[in-house]
Amino acid sequence: MNDTPGQYPDSWYAETATMLAPQPALKGEKSADLCVVGAGYTGLSAALHAAKAGQSVIVLEAQRIGFGASGRNGGQIGSGFNKDVHWLADHLGRDRAKALWALAGQGKTLVRTLIADHAPDADYRPGIIHAALTQGEVAEHHSEADHLSFNYDYRSLTKLDADQLAMLIGSNVFKGGVLDEGAGYCHPLNLVLGLARAAQAAGVEIHERSEVHKVEPGRVQTNGGVVRAKNILLACNGYGTHLNRKTASHVLPINNYLAVTEPLGDRAPMIRPVAVADSRFVVNYWWQTRDGRLVYGGGESYGRKYPKDIRAKVRANLARVYPELKDVNLTHAWGGTLAVTSTRLPYLAEVEPGLFAAAGYSGHGVALSILCGKLVADAIAGDRSDFDLIANLPTPALPAGRIFGPAMTSAAMFAFSLRDRFGV
Ligand SMILES: Cc1cc2nc3c(=O)[nH]c(=O)nc-3n(C[C@H](O)[C@H](O)[C@H](O)COP(=O)(O)OP(=O)(O)OC[C@H]3O[C@@H](n4cnc5c(N)ncnc54)[C@H](O)[C@@H]3O)c2cc1C
Repeated sequence: MNDTPGQYPDSWYAETATMLAPQPALKGEKSADLCVVGAGYTGLSAALHAAKAGQSVIVLEAQRIGFGASGRNGGQIGSGFNKDVHWLADHLGRDRAKALWALAGQGKTLVRTLIADHAPDADYRPGIIHAALTQGEVAEHHSEADHLSFNYDYRSLTKLDADQLAMLIGSNVFKGGVLDEGAGYCHPLNLVLGLARAAQAAGVEIHERSEVHKVEPGRVQTNGGVVRAKNILLACNGYGTHLNRKTASHVLPINNYLAVTEPLGDRAPMIRPVAVADSRFVVNYWWQTRDGRLVYGGGESYGRKYPKDIRAKVRANLARVYPELKDVNLTHAWGGTLAVTSTRLPYLAEVEPGLFAAAGYSGHGVALSILCGKLVADAIAGDRSDFDLIANLPTPALPAGRIFGPAMTSAAMFAFSLRDRFGV
């Protein structure tokens, strides 16, 4: 609805990416050990790891490789989950919280390794600053840094006061925060395209313009053909929740928006190359490109349609952090759809024997989707220990979408956002 079918959005990423030639659509009947639906990080990570383990794999993508959130996101490879370790320890116990924190750490390492091996043009750079708008939030960040250092052996966080933060990012609206050197950021579309190249080199067959209409255990159908496979992975995240009712009841699509400034020259505000995420409920996040542009994300919406003027939506957020840039030329602006769960923890499941689903990373998807794709490949190869750790996370179903359809889903999403925002 918001995009031209088969075309990447008009993003700075698409303009600067090392593109792949179009891949042929699926025609006729084929078979494979694993059929993956969706060529984003989840699907391509699963495909790559399964192929490396000796499986034959076919990936079916409705549009282009990386057309979804994987080719449009803020590129931030954050630590942990959307819920902090206190929440995890309180709800799941300290041992599971520790195991989950370690597993999420492996996810970050996996992404860094994949970039180094297969997508050097994704240009990984370390450092995410979490910038807090209130003194209370600064205190929370600082105490979390101590807690992670003492109890989780995570020593990559540096506490920042207001002046140190202002000096690094060139904005004085924040009261302080932390710099996470164990997190980082990259060019997201180059990352997903690099994964696709690596998957193909490992023997994976990828078909673009091959929208899947029907999935049943062992069989996947597009307009042009059928794939029979012992195992199937639904890796559509916010773009294909309708394919499976059970998955649809656990994840909700949400839209988020980004814009990129012209090269800012002397006006470029950040003195250290670093990404930033702030403490607003709808997080603002940004980083500076090597040619001095700001890639700025801020603003979300519920429902199917993007707002008419995405530039205006992002500009309003950008101007709150950098008022001097309120009239800057935004050369690119685009939206994308991600998915969240009721607890903001990932949904990973074998919904029926041989039919897997992975989605709902709730804004932590760059690291967690690539991790979960690998965990599906591991599970198919017979190692389910880490798969089960994520699959057993609480992500209670949200019945509105399944029962009432898309209109009610939007209403449910909105109500859900208010509940989250005001803690009711
Ligand atoms: C604007 C924005 C900013 C974000 N910023 C960050 C960030 O900075 N850090 C972070 O960690 N996360 C971020 N995220 C989230 C992150 O991008 C996602 O969690 C992650 O990319 C999900 O990857 P995926 O492969 O599961 O899904 P996607 O990348 O969305 O891929 C799903 C694919 O499935 C395809 N598909 C759908 N239906 C079908 C069908 N029927 N048949 C065949 N193919 C189908 C789609 O075309 C799409 O290519 C952001 C998301 C958005 C939208």
